[in-house]
Amino acid sequence: MEQGRYFPIAGMVIALVTGLIMIFAGVSGWLVGAAVLIWIGSFWLAVPPPPASTADPREGVQLTTSGMRDLVEHSGLPMVLLDSNRIIIANAAAREVMGEHMLGQDARVVFRHPEAVDLLTRPEGGSATIHGLTGTRSNWQVSRHPIDQRYSLIELVNRTAEADVSRAHTDFVANASHELRTPLASIIGYMETLADAQADIDPERTARFHTTVLREARRLQALVSDLMSLSRVEAEKHDQPREPVDLIPLVQQAARDGATHDRQDRLEFALGEKTLMVRGDRNQLEQLVRNLVENAFKYGSADAPVTVGVERGERDMAILSVRDRGEGIAPEHIPHLTRRFYRTDPGRSRAAGGTGLGLAIVKHIVERHRGRLDIASQPGSGTCVTIALPLAA
Ligand code: ADP
Repeated sequence: MEQGRYFPIAGMVIALVTGLIMIFAGVSGWLVGAAVLIWIGSFWLAVPPPPASTADPREGVQLTTSGMRDLVEHSGLPMVLLDSNRIIIANAAAREVMGEHMLGQDARVVFRHPEAVDLLTRPEGGSATIHGLTGTRSNWQVSRHPIDQRYSLIELVNRTAEADVSRAHTDFVANASHELRTPLASIIGYMETLADAQADIDPERTARFHTTVLREARRLQALVSDLMSLSRVEAEKHDQPREPVDLIPLVQQAARDGATHDRQDRLEFALGEKTLMVRGDRNQLEQLVRNLVENAFKYGSADAPVTVGVERGERDMAILSVRDRGEGIAPEHIPHLTRRFYRTDPGRSRAAGGTGLGLAIVKHIVERHRGRLDIASQPGSGTCVTIALPLAA
């Protein structure tokens, strides 16, 4: 018998019996013979062969698993097929995450985590969020979909970045609330004392209280203004500014504003060009220069100059630098300086009217302009912040 050819026995028997009945009914034998022959022949030709039935009942499953392996191999999502708890397929993404050795192993050993093991033992499947599966800070959503009583599919979705973003948001709100609450508490405390009719406060103390209330109110104002700037720059970060701006006069004016009237004599310029065009957002570039110059005066030496330089750099970049001769910054702080509310010395920053947001705003403005920010500092001799911005074509 030809491999896979199927005999429709029941149909043939019916055809033969019908043929006999027709002969008994008096139909010509030749005609009945021809009709039965055509009938049986049509069964033979028209009925498709059923799937190959093989001696090994698992062979059908083997074919399915190899097809499935091809199907999931290049998916970006890590996927694993389990035979009971043994891993029989792990696509490239899964092997990259959990290691090549995972194939053939018990999934409970590979995933190890108690929540993952619990998920593997649940017959109905489901999903669980697992912390620390691939690293202490990692966050994975693991889902198990049972296919039948024996096979199940596991899908892994990396939620680490989302968890980081949500943690950063929570930290930011907590920090911002703390920063706002402190001056508010101070203002309320002083105002309550001043408003207390019983309190006999001499005019000198009253004047001191007023000064403190005003200073704290200004701090609140600076904080709210920096928070608004930060949220504006963040909202526009994907929208690269197009307006042609001459950096030289802009930097000169913004640096003078940042130095304020009483420190103009310590402000120096080192301008390599008469004009240097970039494409930018004028207000944000002014704010960037003001923030850097304010910091240079805040944290620089009280009697040494602050130098603001602008020159044409390599690869069609304009280089802006702000250098002070202060105490400098210890190297371990440098990578964190652009984080919101990060300060090396919170007391000094607050006393100088700092909000802890100046460099975070600078970083976002630089990113929006597709530029680069570099902070170099030598403890004891000062800090130089350099910004490279692409020149306008
Ligand atoms: P702040 O409002 O506190 O100045 P910034 O974001 O502008 O906030 O700066 C963050 C921290 O970086 C400051 O608190 C300070 O500790 C440090 N810093 C910034 N610029 C300088 C500088 N030129 N010299 C020394 N430290 C600096």
